[in-house]
Amino acid sequence: MMEKKITHGFELTRRQEIKEIGATINYFKHLKSGADMIYLENEDTNKVFNITFRTVPEDDTGCPHILEHSVLNGSKNFPAKGTFMELIKGSLNTFINAMTSSDWTSYPVASTNDKDFLNLMRVYLDAVLNPLIYDDPRILQQEGWHYELFDKEGEINYRGVVYNEMKGAFSSEDSIVVRNSTNAQFPDTPYGFESGGDPDAIPQLTQEKFADFHRKYYHPSNSLIWLYGDVDLDETLKIINESYLKDFDDPKIEIRFPMQEPFNEPKKITMQYPLGDDMEIEGEYHLTLNYTYGKATDSYLGTSLQILAELLMNTPASPLKLAIIRSGLCKNSMIYVRADIVQPTIHIFLKQIKKEDIPALIELIQNELQRIASEGFDKKLIEATLNAREFFLREAQMQNFPKGLFYSLGSIGEWIHGGDPIDSLAFEGYLAHLRKGITEPLYENLIEEAMLKNDHRSEIVFEPVPGMIAAGEERVRKELEEYKNSLSEKEIEELIEMNIKLKEWQETPDSEEDMLKIPLLSLSDVDTKASFNEPIVEEKEGWTLLKNPIHTNGIVYISSHLDLAHATIEDISWIRLYTQLLGQIDSENYSFAELNNEIRNNTGGITLNTQAYGEIENPENVMPKLVLAGKAIADKTPALIKFMAELALRPLFEDEGRIKSLLLELKSGAEQRTINMGHVVAITRMLAPISKAHRIQDAYGGLGYLHFLSDIVNQMEGDMAGIIAKFKEVQKRYFTKEGLVLSLTANEELIPKAEKELDSLLAQLSQESHAPAEEDASPAKIKEGITAPIKIQYVAKGGDFREKGYDYSGKMMVLGSILSTEHLYKELRVKGGAYGGGAGFRQDGTMFFYSYRDPNLKESLDVYSGVAESLRAFNVNRREMDKFILGVISTLDYPKTPETIGTEAAVNYITGMNKELFQKIRDEVLSTNVEDIKAYAEMIEEVMKDNHYTVVGSETKVKEASALFDEIIPFIKK
Ligand SMILES: [Zn+2]
Repeated sequence: MMEKKITHGFELTRRQEIKEIGATINYFKHLKSGADMIYLENEDTNKVFNITFRTVPEDDTGCPHILEHSVLNGSKNFPAKGTFMELIKGSLNTFINAMTSSDWTSYPVASTNDKDFLNLMRVYLDAVLNPLIYDDPRILQQEGWHYELFDKEGEINYRGVVYNEMKGAFSSEDSIVVRNSTNAQFPDTPYGFESGGDPDAIPQLTQEKFADFHRKYYHPSNSLIWLYGDVDLDETLKIINESYLKDFDDPKIEIRFPMQEPFNEPKKITMQYPLGDDMEIEGEYHLTLNYTYGKATDSYLGTSLQILAELLMNTPASPLKLAIIRSGLCKNSMIYVRADIVQPTIHIFLKQIKKEDIPALIELIQNELQRIASEGFDKKLIEATLNAREFFLREAQMQNFPKGLFYSLGSIGEWIHGGDPIDSLAFEGYLAHLRKGITEPLYENLIEEAMLKNDHRSEIVFEPVPGMIAAGEERVRKELEEYKNSLSEKEIEELIEMNIKLKEWQETPDSEEDMLKIPLLSLSDVDTKASFNEPIVEEKEGWTLLKNPIHTNGIVYISSHLDLAHATIEDISWIRLYTQLLGQIDSENYSFAELNNEIRNNTGGITLNTQAYGEIENPENVMPKLVLAGKAIADKTPALIKFMAELALRPLFEDEGRIKSLLLELKSGAEQRTINMGHVVAITRMLAPISKAHRIQDAYGGLGYLHFLSDIVNQMEGDMAGIIAKFKEVQKRYFTKEGLVLSLTANEELIPKAEKELDSLLAQLSQESHAPAEEDASPAKIKEGITAPIKIQYVAKGGDFREKGYDYSGKMMVLGSILSTEHLYKELRVKGGAYGGGAGFRQDGTMFFYSYRDPNLKESLDVYSGVAESLRAFNVNRREMDKFILGVISTLDYPKTPETIGTEAAVNYITGMNKELFQKIRDEVLSTNVEDIKAYAEMIEEVMKDNHYTVVGSETKVKEASALFDEIIPFIKK
């Protein structure tokens, strides 16, 4: 019999090696409190701590989400309300945030520094277990909602961080459709509620209900603690037990999720969604088909459904997607699977349909599903899809996300619904299961069972209603007016009093005593030497090879930057469009379906992108580049090169019908994507008149590109030949060898072989040379208002500090961080109710302030005008200053993946960034003092005086403020 091992109150119940991810999983139970803990043990220095609670929404007030924000406003041992911000600023964290899902709330932190890691963990445990929310109603008022009134005669408004955040989320078309579709599948369970909060319901949340929710769900017995990486386990367990868990007794109450009774028959539902006021409703209907099937704990069901979704719609070779595109009945379509909720659900989302086409579209999908179920999927498609999944899992490079957190979030669904987290971590097991689908009708049967024969499904038609946003705003205004009228004189005075007190509290800095309780690192914990990856540089004939010999787990990464100095701004948009069609149309030697299967079978992916870089020492020199990148297991390098060339250089522009439907889909997709990053659009547009790099960025990824797509769609009807001729010109003109910078990243011993393979790629590039494009005339500075179908604003203001005689310095990184976390944070977010905002200073001399999902417009511009004044009054002690510096250092020292190292090597080479410059910037950051920061007041004042701004916002708000703008243009161009 195995001896039970108990350490600091934790009993180790199971331990198992997981070869696939090079880690050992340890399951613990904290005996007294009942908390579950998983320690995923390996050598990764990017350590992760995460505590997750099951949080079951009981209504639409968004209690789980508001609580997630609120517990980070001070706790018993760390009472400062600014603790969370202090940690963002003053730690070396590689991740710090909190997130609310449909049925859980997670609090993860990560760091590569041991001391920092334990500090972060302590503060987070204290926040979730001992928050100040019980005694201080101002926390709910600030983070959730309150009636705002400062002036007896004024209008009452709703105000609150989550209230405004959700108002933004509820104005995004996609999120309205997605949310309502999930909710409709679960009318009788908590999934029918909005865990994030419906703005109409948020004001029903009372302090009492709020506190009860915490009491019920934030108990250790309802938590899973996750530890990952190279942690000092004994020390960590000791802290968790002695400082926190030992004070709790397991109440032995199990929180489980009620299951939705399956429907007796499929449902048909019609819902409304808001459309921009000046938009035609024809062709703006949306449709979702939703299927709920099985249980989250059914082994491998969730992943099988995800693979099924990919097979059906998520690859260019996917049959259902092809049938939908071919029909031309909708402009865009997508599929996604919620596998983390108790009953997995598939959603098919069809966008922009004519009302009369809806029945035909439903029938088409039904028939196509039936056809695939009986004829079967193309085996090559299944193989390619599974190989792509396997590459992703083996590479285990989660962009800039700590690996341990990726594993943690990926297994929460299993854990909270009573499954075994190891099922999602030990991927050999489920890959073996998924591979059965190559020889057996696994996925075809799933179509039958989960979709065709499944009665737990719904068809939801979303009917566009112009003016619905304004009507909603009007309704809320009336509701508030009535509320105000119902108040007595005395009650109004009390309300004003409450607002004044709240504002005072928000504006009063935390006491020094409380601030000192927050455990922070000091600058002596930081390495003064910058770590800079220097590639081996080889200048070839007309091009440059960069070699990065590093450990890549046997994978070869190629990143080639093709020169676009000869491209005009307009051509940049054409080049971007060309790259977006690749892989979706046939090429010389393959149909697009075959080409996609080959790429997924042989490589880890091939991507094309457009970028613009400024030379560091000479920012006027802006260099647009076309980035062709790919990766593969080393022995597949020849195939990688072959398919990079086939994809990028040999597309055929023959199938006009398909190209037309792709263009329509690209336009519709771009509209939604672009609207969701309104702050980036605003910043880019604002800087475009003064910076060529931003003009280029606008042309390949901003509003400029979106409007270009509208023009193309208009041109398409009369002049398809002109469009195709232009694509052929791009193909001939912009894939040239001259000026190419190619970065090769792999284990040292793999590089020589991979290098030889490059010759074949180089030989296929155009050997012609072109004169650089004429400089485009830079437009005058304008104040631009952009009206979009949204309820909130994105307000950007900025300019060029080099023009005012200032040079870039690393100290500006500290300045940006101070402004983003102090003045702008307080003014835009805490007081103004915006979801976020910040400041940026770039090496090319551009600087900007911006707000994100902002209920205000002019007020935020005023906030920017006040920045200089706030800097003049800036004064903090050494500890505070160190904290800001540490925050910046943590971004500089973020652990890099091999792929990032390869790409950065190329960017550094192109821009002229080198070890000395990089060290200089670090030195500047580390030496920043209060006087340096104050000295920037003048620079900011001068830039602000240029009065150069752009706003993306709601039609009502922008038009109300029309006097502020030289020009107002619509976001969506007809
Ligand atoms: Zn939030």
